[in-house]
Amino acid sequence: MATPPLPRDRLERVWAWGGAQSAMSWVYRPSTLDGVHEALALARAHDLTVGLRGAGRSYGDASLNDEQVCLDLSRMRRILDWDPVGGVVTVEPGVTIGQLWQYVIEDGWWPYVVPGTMFVTIGGAAAMNIHGKNNWKVGPIGDHIREFDLLLPTGEVRRCNRSENSELFHAAIGGFGMLGVFLRLTLELKKVHSGLLAVEAMAFDDLHGVFGCWEERMDAADYLVGWIDAFPGGAHRGRGLVHQANYLAPGDDPNVRETLRVEAQELPATLAGVVPKSIMWRFMQPFMNDVGMRVVNAAKFHSSRFQNHQTYRQSHAGFAFLLDYVPDWKRSYGRGGLIQYQSFVPVEHAEAVFRAQLHLARRRGLTPYLGVFKRHRPDPFLMTHAVDGYSLALDFKVTASRRRPLWALAAELDRIVVDAGGRFYFAKDSTLGRQSLERYLAEERVARFLALKRECDPEGLLETNLYRRLFARHPGAPRRAPSVR
Ligand SMILES: Cc1cc2nc3c(=O)[nH]c(=O)nc-3n(C[C@H](O)[C@H](O)[C@H](O)COP(=O)(O)OP(=O)(O)OC[C@H]3O[C@@H](n4cnc5c(N)ncnc54)[C@H](O)[C@@H]3O)c2cc1C
Repeated sequence: MATPPLPRDRLERVWAWGGAQSAMSWVYRPSTLDGVHEALALARAHDLTVGLRGAGRSYGDASLNDEQVCLDLSRMRRILDWDPVGGVVTVEPGVTIGQLWQYVIEDGWWPYVVPGTMFVTIGGAAAMNIHGKNNWKVGPIGDHIREFDLLLPTGEVRRCNRSENSELFHAAIGGFGMLGVFLRLTLELKKVHSGLLAVEAMAFDDLHGVFGCWEERMDAADYLVGWIDAFPGGAHRGRGLVHQANYLAPGDDPNVRETLRVEAQELPATLAGVVPKSIMWRFMQPFMNDVGMRVVNAAKFHSSRFQNHQTYRQSHAGFAFLLDYVPDWKRSYGRGGLIQYQSFVPVEHAEAVFRAQLHLARRRGLTPYLGVFKRHRPDPFLMTHAVDGYSLALDFKVTASRRRPLWALAAELDRIVVDAGGRFYFAKDSTLGRQSLERYLAEERVARFLALKRECDPEGLLETNLYRRLFARHPGAPRRAPSVR
């Protein structure tokens, strides 16, 4: 008997977070394990592949699966176990970073690693092995995951930790949802003695100054993050602001009970006490062009100079989730959306590479509107994006006419990065080609990863647009069984 078609009301347009790509998919949002099994079985019965999705906060096509099934795990969001003495938590994959910190902070804990937005899920964060503004100090989130249960497409659930299924542990973290579905993850958290951080802001006239700041402060800082103004050339190329933050020691905060409350962390609902933040992106929209952003960035840089080396106290959430201050800010980029280009370059070449990138982008008339600068360290995960070096993340506006030159620019930037021994990050990527991938990721890493994929997912059931773009035609990729086209 023929399998009945998948219901039309499951068909949805699913967007990449940056809004520059989308896909039509049959979307399933189970709240239980049975629901996950059902979605996998349905896909198999219809000869479709399954792309896993958390909160859809990856900038590009990492959680898109065009004309196939999208398995959205954001409704599996229960906190399963919490030890407020040891700071160890077990969660379902759809629990967000926001939900997590709000649950634990009053007991004096904070996640070791958080990204620039609190809306990502723990499953999505583990699948990309996210890093924070403290990556050189504490590593990526995977370094703080004790264990997880992974549902393989074969139906088997494997418990993975550093001693049991250790190879799979180190490959599924950072494995961009290609080896199995995280069902349950256990994380260790960081003890904090205040709801506040001690923050210092610094301004630098050029990229060299920004680099110097890291070299000088890395040992003493808990967090360091740089904002780069990509517009000026010449002597001011790569000028920027750096924020350092440090935890407070026990006893430093006289109001610790109060500052550890969720209410003390929340980002304000209005800007300057008047403008509702929900409409702020509309005010930003007229400035989202080359002239507007040149002026906005210059104003930001020069006004910050007045606060150079001033220190103040700021909540953990206020410091960590700066990008959440203006909800929906990406909409200010307009209908074409944005892409982010983030490259990771070893220390010895980083300054020259980032200088060359900023120069080339300007020369091509495609200056990025935002640049974010961080320090990293190597980690033991198979598909790691980290290096002993720095990353620069550049946000580019996409329009119909800019799309082609932007992708061409990205290919030029890739060559500079790869020649310097650099890497890329699938959570941010939209543009990488197979050739660049093959040059930057050692062939034995790719081969090992695809061997694990053949073992965990012999039919090749798990796929996304990103996977097809970069890996599917690799000779080591699982051959789809006849029942899975
Ligand atoms: C404003 C903003 C700021 C950001 N800042 C940072 C930053 O500072 N550092 C950083 O590292 N990243 C950052 N990111 C990127 C973001 O942290 C990652 O893309 C993260 O993976 C998004 O999580 P998600 O829940 O939205 O997952 P999605 O984007 O939906 O999916 C990400 C990947 O996880 C897989 N996946 C999802 N759920 C599961 C599951 N249960 N089991 C297995 N695989 C699964 C998907 O297939 C996909 O490959 C930022 C993103 C935004 C939008």
